[in-house]
Amino acid sequence: MRLRVSLGTAQVLGLRSIRQPHPPTTAYLMWGEKCRRDCAFCAQARGSDSRADLLSRVTWPAFPAAEVISRLSGSGVRRVCVQVVEPGSPREMADLVLLVGELAASGLPVCVSCFLPSLKVAEALLRAGADGVTLPLDAASPGVYQLVKGGSLAAALAHLERAARAFPGRVGTHLIAGLGESEEEMVLLIGRLVQLGVRVGLFAFTPVAGTRMAHHPPPSLESYRRVQAAHYLLRRGLARAEEFTFEGGRLTGFGSRFPPARLRALLADGEAFRTTGCPDCNRPYYNERPGQPVPYNYPHPLDPGQAEGEVQRLLSSLEAPEGGAGSPVQGMGVGGGGTGGPGRRMGSGSVMGGSGTCAGG
Ligand code: SF4
Repeated sequence: MRLRVSLGTAQVLGLRSIRQPHPPTTAYLMWGEKCRRDCAFCAQARGSDSRADLLSRVTWPAFPAAEVISRLSGSGVRRVCVQVVEPGSPREMADLVLLVGELAASGLPVCVSCFLPSLKVAEALLRAGADGVTLPLDAASPGVYQLVKGGSLAAALAHLERAARAFPGRVGTHLIAGLGESEEEMVLLIGRLVQLGVRVGLFAFTPVAGTRMAHHPPPSLESYRRVQAAHYLLRRGLARAEEFTFEGGRLTGFGSRFPPARLRALLADGEAFRTTGCPDCNRPYYNERPGQPVPYNYPHPLDPGQAEGEVQRLLSSLEAPEGGAGSPVQGMGVGGGGTGGPGRRMGSGSVMGGSGTCAGG
């Protein structure tokens, strides 16, 4: 059996030689190829013309599974993440459970990100040694979910809630900011998930060539920082989403308990702007190009200057509204609030351009 490994992971495991200033602290593996589903943002979608070795903006060379597994211990990674591209038959699921058992034998915590048809499959993965399962919601509003993923956000959320109740503390999800939802929709959903004990891995939408959303712009950095700050206050138990204020779907403040001076103090260490999700997941270059000066998700601790700059960016964006409530999903017939005005844009349609939530650097 062969496993795809993110390029950054391949370097950390000694399988490829590349320069990367911020190596992944999790080994990102991809199991399966070309999904039967058809998410508009994903390089692995049924209808996508993207290369088979792309997921998000990351390339994933394939190696023998035994070799990958043998190199995990002692490599320096602190977690293994298996990104499952739509498993199908019971036989494929049985193979996945076996793989998780072999990965867990490395002694590292293993998480599996997967569309799980039933809680029985989640239970089998956890019994095989996974420390957590991630059921990606991706889209934060019903209309956007229906348009970009197909189906019902309410049903997906109900499934996630059942999993969270059945396996407390062991369930996560992924959300992508910038698919066309409003900041209000995103933040209220994050608040609900935090209350359920679901870990949220937050991503910024990044267009991938060959997908239906190849020409949809990513969110502005200012919009993303507002959502990150809200997520931070919520997951730290410092605030409730009902305290936050919104105008036309855009986050305009964190409530009377969070004047600028207090926000500045709470966010001063920069933790709010780092990659979120499972412990030790840093997903370098997932939403960013190498050399891009300011990442959406910092894959490393921020130095004091970076942290101060990001807090200032956030506070300034609360004081000075961007132009309008945001951009709808372009050319796809969805209205909705959007996650911000134009702000900083990454070029769309690059070969390495990406989105989708299955994995990282
Ligand atoms: S949060 Fe990170 S480690 Fe966890 S499933 Fe998502 S990509 Fe993998």
